[in-house]
Amino acid sequence: MARISKRTLDIPPFIVMDILEKAQQMEKAGRDIVHLEIGEPDFTTPQCICDAAVKAIARGETHYTHSLGLPALREAICRHHQQTYGVAVVPEQILVSSGTSPALFMIFAALLEPGDEIILSDPHYPCYPNFARFVGAEPVFVRCFEEDGFQLRPDDIRKAITSRTRAVVINSPANPTGNLLAPERMEEIAALGLPVVSDEIYHGLVYGPPARSILEFTRNAFVLNGFSKRYAMTGWRLGYIIAPPEFIRPLQKIQQNLFISAGSISQWAGLAALEEAEADVRKMVEIYDKRRRYMIERIQKMGFQLPVEPAGAFYLLVNARHLGEKSYDLAFEILEKAGVGVTPGIDFGAHVEGYLRFSYANHLDRIEEGLDRLERFVGAR
Ligand code: PMP
Repeated sequence: MARISKRTLDIPPFIVMDILEKAQQMEKAGRDIVHLEIGEPDFTTPQCICDAAVKAIARGETHYTHSLGLPALREAICRHHQQTYGVAVVPEQILVSSGTSPALFMIFAALLEPGDEIILSDPHYPCYPNFARFVGAEPVFVRCFEEDGFQLRPDDIRKAITSRTRAVVINSPANPTGNLLAPERMEEIAALGLPVVSDEIYHGLVYGPPARSILEFTRNAFVLNGFSKRYAMTGWRLGYIIAPPEFIRPLQKIQQNLFISAGSISQWAGLAALEEAEADVRKMVEIYDKRRRYMIERIQKMGFQLPVEPAGAFYLLVNARHLGEKSYDLAFEILEKAGVGVTPGIDFGAHVEGYLRFSYANHLDRIEEGLDRLERFVGAR
């Protein structure tokens, strides 16, 4: 009998997928479910991006690319960073990956030895600790507070540093909170001197001042970004890493062995995204913002507290402890009784047990229906 490795047995599932799969099972049985659990744009990819992919296929761009990514795409990423943040990066600092998820995995693999520590916020994106443990490292959690908009406190990071700490991860705008990290805090975090891994995947999806890149504050940083959210390209699997130059060759070796290169057609599509899709992004952001404001108002009227208004990504994380202590059970109860999918806080960290994440990556009329149902559920309690 083949044996399953411990590291495989130990990796936890994505709890949100449990909710989604249960919801799909209920839908198959004829129930109408409103999906407020999904962390994926409901929009289809803008036409100009799809057209570029079709053209790439017609030209026969169906081969492996350079393991670091198409030169034209890497140059476009450099221009994007210059224009957006006034930050100079060169193609030799960039590796194009099959999404931000493999980028995260490669960074953690390149940075962490077994027994090393990496500092994460609580709450955090669920994959961070899972990837860290997968490479044998220890996630160290720094608690963030609701009244602070769940932003990391630089002083608390400092207190968590030990001789084994290798890096700190930041994510702004953040999943699951939708909040941004203030530039002053980014500056203070950069000044700690630790390498900063900055997951910037929600950049561009902001409803107030733009998000700042960690590269504006330090070069001792790894930027992770991807096309999934901003350009509604989740299925294309495209992302990238900007790393200090000495890390590119090691990362390239991981890429060559594990992935060879990112998908060629997706990379041509990504080039069009950067060069042609700005107007489409602006339209999507306007629509997200309408939904965001609507959802915040309704959620607050229902009695949920939201001390800091989330101004990025497409999520709200709200305290639902008055409805139940166990967010996993509560999310399933809401699904079964109200027909609304929401994500339990426990997926994102021990300190947000009792919270629920609502996503507004869904049509406004569906959000309205979902919140009507939730209101009736809350009222009946
Ligand atoms: N980082 C964060 C914070 C995310 O929310 C996600 C997607 N849910 C990812 C990374 C991964 O994105 P992808 O692999 O599609 O680029």
